[in-house]
Amino acid sequence: MSGKLRKKQIFRIKIFCSGCNALLYKYNKEGPGNLVKCFVDGITENNTTKACTCPKCEKVFAREDLLRGRPIHRLIKGTFFKRGNTGKK
Ligand SMILES: [Zn+2]
Repeated sequence: MSGKLRKKQIFRIKIFCSGCNALLYKYNKEGPGNLVKCFVDGITENNTTKACTCPKCEKVFAREDLLRGRPIHRLIKGTFFKRGNTGKK
């Protein structure tokens, strides 16, 4: 028995617009893996003024949705890039 507790990993990352490099979100990602969505309650800094739209170049980078009743932003491939480790090798 390892005695190791399974704790939920949090990855602090930043999400940028791929069109103009503006910082969109600071986000606490739950668990490792690809970044395909953001839970709205995990966004710690939100620089958008219109939902899911870059405040600088107005590129739409995500769509609002729900996942098991939790509001999420589904990120649109190619419209954003991230900085920070998401636990993916
Ligand atoms: Zn932009």
